[in-house]
Amino acid sequence: MNRAEDLEVAGRTVLVRADLNVPLDSGAITDDGRIRASLPTMRDLLARGAAVIVCAHLGRPTGDDYPARAAGGPSLRPVADRLAELLGRPVTLAGDVAGESASVIATTMGAGEAALLENVRFEPAETSKDDQVRGDLAGRLAALADVYVGDGFGAMHRKHASVYDTPRLLPHAAGQLVLAEVTVLRQLTTSPARPYVVVLGGAKVSDKLAVIGNLVGKADRLLIAGGMAYTFLAAQGHRIGDSILQADQLGQVTTVLADAARAGVELVLPVDHVVADRFAADARHEVVPGPDIPDGTMGMDIGPATRDLFARKLADAKTVFWNGPPGVFEFPAFAAGTRAVAEAIGAVTGLTVVGGGDSAAAVRHLNLPPDAFTHISTGGGASLEYLEGRALPGLAALEDGT
Ligand code: ADP
Ligand code: MG
Repeated sequence: MNRAEDLEVAGRTVLVRADLNVPLDSGAITDDGRIRASLPTMRDLLARGAAVIVCAHLGRPTGDDYPARAAGGPSLRPVADRLAELLGRPVTLAGDVAGESASVIATTMGAGEAALLENVRFEPAETSKDDQVRGDLAGRLAALADVYVGDGFGAMHRKHASVYDTPRLLPHAAGQLVLAEVTVLRQLTTSPARPYVVVLGGAKVSDKLAVIGNLVGKADRLLIAGGMAYTFLAAQGHRIGDSILQADQLGQVTTVLADAARAGVELVLPVDHVVADRFAADARHEVVPGPDIPDGTMGMDIGPATRDLFARKLADAKTVFWNGPPGVFEFPAFAAGTRAVAEAIGAVTGLTVVGGGDSAAAVRHLNLPPDAFTHISTGGGASLEYLEGRALPGLAALEDGT
C-alpha cells in the first residue's frame, strides 16, 4: 500500500476520504475524536503544499434524491467549523458534494488551503449497489483532484463510491490513520500474546455474530455483555423479561455456544444485572442478583458481581480487544458496567484495543489516563470485519495498483 506521506503533493489537489462521522446532539458535536484522528494526514498534506479537499459522510440522510436528502440533513457544517478550529485555518464547506459548488472550489483553491465537500451520503449513488451508478459519482469526485488519499478507516468496510470506486480513478495512497489502524489490527490477528480476551457488548447480537464465530477459534476468553447478552441468556433458557431479544438469532447463538464449548473457549455471560422498568434515563432501576431477569423489567447494564467477574477474567490478559459498551452508558444510571470494563482493561499490561464509535466515545467520556489503552480505533464495523478475516473493500482499492 502506498503511503500518503510518500506522495509528491506540492501544488497538487488531494482528495482525502476521511471518517468524520461524529455523534451529534441537536446539531452539536458530542465527541470529536474522529475529527482529531483525521488531522495528522491533513496537516501533513497541507504543510507540504497540497490543496486538500476532504470528502466524508455524516449520519444516515434519507430521501429518494439529492434535494430531499440535502434538505433533511445532516449537513457537515458543524464538522467544517470544528475541523477549521482544530486545523487552525479556514475550511471552506462546499454547497454540494461533487456539483457546481465543489468544482468552483476545486479549481480556485490554492496550495495549503482546505475545503470540505458536503455530506457524501446526500448523493444516493454513494451507497448504490449498481457499479455504474457509483462509478458515475466516483468520476465526478475524481475530477475534483489529482490524487486520492484514503484515510477514513471507519468506512473502509463499505463498497461505496467515495471509498471503493474513486481511488481506482486516481493515483492513490493510504493516510496515516488507516496505516495505524491496520498495523494494530494485524497484531490482533497474527499470533496475539495470550491470554487473548475479547469483550463484546452493544445493542444487537446480529451485528456481532460473525465476529464472535470467528473469534471462537482465536481468543481464549469471550466476555459477552450489553443488549446482545440477553439473546445468549435466552438461548441458555434464562428468563430475560423485557430486555432486547433477537429471537431470529437464537439458533445461531446456540451454535456459537456449542462451538465455544467444543473449542475450549471460555464464554462468559453476565451473572447479574441492573434492570429498569422502562428504557429511559430516569427509569426506576435496581440490581437483580442472578442471571434471570424478572418480567416487567429490562436489563440495562451488568451488575456488580459481573463487573467483578469480568475484571477477574481480564486481570491476566496479555491481549484485549473490546467492542460495544456492556450497558446503556448514555444514561448515567447504567454506565457503571462500561466504566468497570474500561478500568479493568486500562489496568492490563499488553496490547489493548478499543474499537467502535460508541465504545470509543464512551471511554473518552470516562476521562481515563490517555495511555489507558494501546489504541482506540475509530472503526466499529470496519475493525470487526477486519477481525472476521474479511477483505475490506476500501483497503483492497488502496492496495490495488499504484
Ligand atoms: P459500537 O458503536 O462501539 O460498535 P454498538 O453500536 O454495537 O457499539 O452498541 C452501542 C449501543 O449499545 C449503545 O448505544 C448502548 O446504549 C447499547 N446498549 C448497551 N447495552 C444495552 C442494553 N442492555 N440494552 C440496550 N442497549 C444497550
Ligand atoms: Mg455504534
